[in-house]
Amino acid sequence: MTIPQKTPVLIWLPPILAVALVAAIVYFSQSQQRDTKPHKYHKQFTGIMGTQATIVIYQQGNSGADQESAAQIVQAAFDAAKKVEGLMNAYDPKSDISRINASSKDSPVNVHPLTWQVLCQSLRFNYLSDGAFNPLTGRLIKLYKWKNNQQKSLPPHDKIEPAVKSARIENLMMTRQNMQVASKNGALLDLGGIAKGFGVDAAIAELKSYGVKNAMVEIGGEIRIIGDVPLDNGVTDKLGEKHRPWTAGIRNPRGLGWIESLKLDDGCAIATSGDYEKFFEIDGKRYSHIIHPDTGLPVSGGVISATIISPTSCLEADALATSACVMGLDNFKKVLNLFADLRAILIMEDGTTVRLKSTLSTKPASTEKEAE
Ligand code: AMP
Ligand code: MG
Repeated sequence: MTIPQKTPVLIWLPPILAVALVAAIVYFSQSQQRDTKPHKYHKQFTGIMGTQATIVIYQQGNSGADQESAAQIVQAAFDAAKKVEGLMNAYDPKSDISRINASSKDSPVNVHPLTWQVLCQSLRFNYLSDGAFNPLTGRLIKLYKWKNNQQKSLPPHDKIEPAVKSARIENLMMTRQNMQVASKNGALLDLGGIAKGFGVDAAIAELKSYGVKNAMVEIGGEIRIIGDVPLDNGVTDKLGEKHRPWTAGIRNPRGLGWIESLKLDDGCAIATSGDYEKFFEIDGKRYSHIIHPDTGLPVSGGVISATIISPTSCLEADALATSACVMGLDNFKKVLNLFADLRAILIMEDGTTVRLKSTLSTKPASTEKEAE
């Protein structure tokens, strides 16, 4: 007796089993394979340098462990910027800057190498800006109340004059040996015009030390980037691109919204100074939080917003943006050309926008891109 009905089962069972087995292996190996698509990790921080910070990185992998390591990298970058704040905050009595402010020429203080570095850069920008950038405006700043438009009149001459004298750059005494610093003749340091940019650079350096290839760090509007923006999960956009450049916007200094957005090349930094965030008004005249070190008066009119795009340094962009507001258009044009590949967008009091580009370039002429 034959059992024909059983034969097909015996014939077909092995292929079914084989297909199931292959499917299981494929499924299993895929689930074991590392996710190599770029994933975005993004964190906002409050309470740094009197403002907020945002750090964005793109990393491969999206497992719990990947997310945990990305969170640690982002935190390490933020901590690097916080360290800068801890050393350079003039309102923290334990900071290097407060210790220098409490020093005298006979009692210099030893400072951290990072503080030394920023002070050296401050002197460099003071020199290059013909005194417009001045790290010794601390006493002048104490004469004004920007908060809630509290300043009702300009301080009298007998108060401004000694504060202007104290801001003379020779009142900062620096001895390279042991990195010793002192201030004399009542001079007070204030690194508010440069420390945010340096904090951004410190955070970027930390991200690079972890091998991060695509990132953005922003502290209070001062920004620097690494690489570009991988499109979410590696998908291509309509043009078939898997990446797009990081972009940053320039705020309208006299209204809402943004006046333009700029594409940033790898490593670029962008910083903006102006009279639209912290200012007071007397008789309808607006005074910025940036002080003209020669007159001791807050800057009023002229350049109302200065955006600087530096190819390599947020400290440079930050210090030059502050300088541009003090120097005005014509003097700033000369300074710009002391730096390679620098771009500036200045908005003048009358609303005109002036786009400048350094004539000095390290790039071969054929590869140079036009300003956006
Ligand atoms: P920023 O917003 O980067 O232009 O920096 C402005 C801050 O820099 C002010 O709040 C002061 O702390 C400080 N500052 C004011 N005037 C000057 C100046 N002429 N040079 C350097 N720093 C300044
Ligand atoms: Mg600045």
